[in-house]
Amino acid sequence: MTFRRIRILILLGLLAAAGGLTWLEQTMVRAWRAPLDIAVIPINGDGSEQAARTIRALQARDFDDIGAFLEREAARYGGKLTPAAQIALLPELHEQPPAPPREASVLKTVWWSLKLRWWVYRQSGEWLPQLGRIKLFVLYHAPDEGVPLAHSLGIQKGLIGVVHAFADPGQTRQNNIVIAHELLHTLGATDKYGPGGWPVYPQGYAEPELPQQAPRHRAEIMAGRLVDAAGRLVMPPSLDQCVIGPMTAHEINLDAAFERRFASGG
Ligand SMILES: [Zn+2]
Repeated sequence: MTFRRIRILILLGLLAAAGGLTWLEQTMVRAWRAPLDIAVIPINGDGSEQAARTIRALQARDFDDIGAFLEREAARYGGKLTPAAQIALLPELHEQPPAPPREASVLKTVWWSLKLRWWVYRQSGEWLPQLGRIKLFVLYHAPDEGVPLAHSLGIQKGLIGVVHAFADPGQTRQNNIVIAHELLHTLGATDKYGPGGWPVYPQGYAEPELPQQAPRHRAEIMAGRLVDAAGRLVMPPSLDQCVIGPMTAHEINLDAAFERRFASGG
C-alpha cells in the first residue's frame, strides 16, 4: 500500500470514529432526560488587562440565567428537568482555539472541525473524551467602539461552542444570550435571522402566531434580536426576554420531552 493510501485510510478511520462519537453524544444530550452537562472555559481573547480582570472576577453564578432560561423554556414544551443544566466554570485556558477557515470550502471546513475537536480533546487533560459534555469556550475582549466581535459559533460535532464576549460586567447578561444561542447550536438548532441580523418571520419571532408587524418584547433565541415598537432591531437586555420558539424546540428535540410527558399522562 502506498503512503498516500495509508494516509487516506487513517483519515477515513478518524472521520468514522468521530462520526460514531457525534451520533452517541447527540443521542445523549437531545434525549432531555438528564440535566445538560455544560463546561464554560474562559479565555483572554485579546490579551487585554480588561479581559484578564473580567476573567478573574468570573463566578459560576454569572451563568445562572442560562440554566434558568433552559429550565423555563423546556418546561413550556413539557420538559420537567430541575435543573435543566449543570454549568461548571473551569479555570482560564491560556490557549486560543484554531480559527475557522476564511473561505468556506468543504474540505477546509472538515479539516478545521477535526482540528478543533482534537484541540478540545487535548486541552481537556483527560484520556477519554468526556461524552455528552458541552464545552463552551468564551473568549473575552475589551469593548472597542465600533469594532464588532468575531463571529461566535456552536457546532454539533463534538458539542463545542466558541463564543466571543465583551469583557465588561455590564454585558454579562447579554453575553449569556450569545452563549445560550451557541449552546443551542450544539444541540442542533439553526439560525433564524437573515441579512443584517433581522429575524426571519415567523420562526425568528417570539409569539410567531402574531402578525409580523406586531411589536415584540421578547426575542426568539436563535434570532437573538427583536423588532421593537419603533421598528428598530434590538438585542434584548437578558435571557429573561428570550424564548425558544416552536421550530427551535423541534430542532433540539424538545418534542421528545413533550411526547413523553403527555404519552405517560404525567
Ligand atoms: Zn447562530
